[in-house]
Parts: sequence; structure tokens; C-alpha cells
Amino acid sequence: MDGRDAVTHPAEVDVAVVGAGVVGLGIAWEAACSGRRVVVVDPAPGTGASFAAAGMLAAVSEYHYQEEDLLGLTLESARLWPGFARPLGTEAGNLSTPTLCVAGDAADRQALADLRAVQEAHGLGVRPLTVREARSLEPMLAPAIAGAFEITADHQVDPRRLVAAILARLGTGAVIRQRAESLVWAGDGARVVGVRLADGSELRAGETIVANGLGARELAGLPVPLPLRPVYGDILRLRVPESLRPLVTATVRGLVRGKPVYLVPRADGTLVIGATQREDGSDAVSAGGVYELLRDAQALVPAVAELELYETTARARPGTPDNAPLLGRVAARWAPGAADDGGAPPHAQDVAGLIVATGFFRHGVLLTPAAARICVDLLDGRADERWHAFRPDRFARVPHETHASYGRTA
Ligand SMILES: Cc1cc2nc3c(=O)[nH]c(=O)nc-3n(C[C@H](O)[C@H](O)[C@H](O)COP(=O)(O)OP(=O)(O)OC[C@H]3O[C@@H](n4cnc5c(N)ncnc54)[C@H](O)[C@@H]3O)c2cc1C
Repeated sequence: MDGRDAVTHPAEVDVAVVGAGVVGLGIAWEAACSGRRVVVVDPAPGTGASFAAAGMLAAVSEYHYQEEDLLGLTLESARLWPGFARPLGTEAGNLSTPTLCVAGDAADRQALADLRAVQEAHGLGVRPLTVREARSLEPMLAPAIAGAFEITADHQVDPRRLVAAILARLGTGAVIRQRAESLVWAGDGARVVGVRLADGSELRAGETIVANGLGARELAGLPVPLPLRPVYGDILRLRVPESLRPLVTATVRGLVRGKPVYLVPRADGTLVIGATQREDGSDAVSAGGVYELLRDAQALVPAVAELELYETTARARPGTPDNAPLLGRVAARWAPGAADDGGAPPHAQDVAGLIVATGFFRHGVLLTPAAARICVDLLDGRADERWHAFRPDRFARVPHETHASYGRTA
């Protein structure tokens, strides 16, 4: 449908956020707190990757060699978490749970020692523990574990509670339960002026923020292709009987015969065990994945066998080629002088009215406060040089024409 024929949404807002996962809601919340009129568009808020996530705020324990740019962002977000969570009260869950890293056997101990060396080289606080010390902190750990260390900086929240808390504060009037089909461009093709919704209406906005995770692949009218891919994960939720509480008090991250597994205790007496990582294209829960998670979790905490398994979930993480988010403004690659020379960065102007915040892969919950801060800084006209490495157009090598044919309006 041509933009001129569309039903125009009655309200023009300051900010339209496409996607109500943790990232979109975090941005919407921060933007609303800055005094802006914000509307979030999502047919099913909180049902994407955020529904599955364990909610570990694992800047240190998830640090991977050669991901220094990402480490800067994850550490910044970990720093921002307490201030971000404070106005939400205790509803988002527990920010103070420490993390224990545990090795299943001698080879796992060596692998964890190598990881610890990298973490220590970056000045990340880790504390080696003897097996005896680890078991005095967590008596339910298996006597046979081969080694352990503690990370005091990594904590957790409950993403489902976080989603519910932000939705409640934004209020029902701020959420449009529809799919966004395309961006709407101003007639001169230089500015995004909102989104077209599934019912054909337009939501006009001063700024549009694309934060719909993997769904951004299908949103028409983006000025650059977003190289997102689904990385599926199976994750389990179990209930700890009263007689076994607390099963563990820290988040236990283990390596068992080279395979990572984690156990995240919730304040309500439940336990999250995760997570597989597969790129087989299937969003069904994998029986093999469930089996391996339970087997490896039991190797570290044998009493896991006595818990009630009440939920198995599979969702896709929004992955990117370098495991880092697509976050920031996007250059108009078709602008005069922006011709691609096969590798040099373009010198085109950023598209006005558009910010992208997707591709948060394994770290979306951890990175929510940083994404929110960065987006609101951009709304305020401030672009922090430290985060340029995450520009959503960093992979674009050829001009992307799809914007021209979608959602133009007079
Ligand atoms: C098993 C598993 C465990 C994880 N554990 C952790 C963890 O411990 N810590 C951590 O930090 N991260 C974790 N993650 C990663 C984290 O879940 C994601 O990075 C994060 O949820 C991404 O949030 P999001 O808001 O970008 O996307 P999503 O949560 O996927 O939300 C996207 C939303 O956009 C909506 N949408 C899609 N298309 C449209 C459209 N066209 N119009 C409107 N709305 C649309 C969807 O309905 C959805 O609600 C885990 C992920 C998985 C799968």
C-alpha cells in the first residue's frame, strides 16, 4: 500500500519502539523516563528470546578471548544495571547472586584455568577456590568436582519479571499489539517518520527504534541489510522441593567433559538450567539437548535428579557475524558520495529518525541498560565514540535499495 493511502494512526509520538523484548522495553522505559512520549509495537510482548533467557548478567564469565570491544560494552552495562533496576524495585529479580565456576574433571579444570588467566589479564575480579572451599559455600556440589573459582561481579535478573515490570510501568496505552510491517520514510527518502502496522495504519514518530530481535530481518524498508541469524537454545526450568532448599545460592557455571552448563537459582525456589547452542534451524525443544543439560547439571549438583522439571523451552538468540550487537544509527548508503569502493567505510549521513538495536545474541539481558542508555543518548543528539564499533551498518558492503520501495509517504 502506498503511504498516502494508509490510515494514519491518530497519535504522533516522540519515539516508536518496534519490539517488546527486554531490549525494546528497556529502551522504551529509559526514553519514557527522559520525558518522551513512547509507544512500543509488538503483537506478543516478551515472547521472543527474552522469554527463554536465564537472565545472567555475566560480563566476566561470558568473556571470550578477542571480544575486547564487546567486553567494554558488557562491563559498562553491568555497571549500569543497579541504577537501571532501582526504579523497578525488586520486581526484576535478584541482582546480588554471585557466580561459581566449577570444573567437572581435570581437563575441564585446565580449560577453566585458561579462561581464568584471560579474565585476570583483563583485571576482571576472579577468586580461586579449593574444592573444599567451593563445597563449603555450596554444600550440594558433587564431591567429585575438580576445581572452582568465584566471580563476584556477575549477577542475575529474571527477564520475565523484568518484562512484566516495565510493561506495567509503561501502561497499556503505550503498547500497540500489532506487528510492524515496514518503516515509513519521508518523501525525500532521507528520514524515517514512523512504522506501518499490520492493519495498514501508520504510527508516526519523531524517532523509530528497531528493536525486534530476529524479527528485524523481515521489517521492510531498512536502509542496510542486518546480518542476523538464529542461534537456538534449549533451557529448562525446575522446581526445588522444600526439603532441598536452597539447592544452590550462587549461579553455578560448569564445564563438564568440555561442555558448558549453568544452574541459576531464583528467589522463588525454582532453578533454571541452560543452555544448548545449535544452528539446526529448529525451534522445537531438542530431546538430546534436554538430556545433556540434565546429565551435566547432575554431574555438578547430583540432587538435580530429585527436582520437578516443569518447563522446557527453546528460542533463538539473535546472532551476528561477530557476536556483537547491531546498535546505533545507520548511514544512508545511497546518499551522494556514498558509493561503495569495496571496503572503505562510507561517508554518508546517518538516516534521521532511525536507530537500530538488535543482534544481542547471548547478552541481551545483560546489555539492556547499555542499549537503553546509548539509544537515549542518540535521541538527545549525543553519540559516544566508544560504541561506534557496534554500528548496525558495519557489515554493509553494497547499497541496499529496499528502502526506496517501502512505506514512502508524502
Ligand atoms: C536459551 C537462552 C538463554 C539465554 N540466556 C541469557 C542470559 O542468561 N543472559 C543474557 O544476557 N542473555 C541471554 N540470552 C540472550 C537474550 O535472551 C537475548 O539476547 C535477548 O532476549 C534479546 O532481546 P530482544 O529484546 O532483542 O529480542 P526478543 O526477546 O527476541 O524480542 C523481540 C520482540 O520483537 C517482537 N517482534 C518481532 N518482529 C516484530 C515486528 N515485525 N513488529 C513488532 N514486534 C516484533 C517479538 O514478538 C518479540 O517480543 C539467552 C537466550 C536464550 C535463547
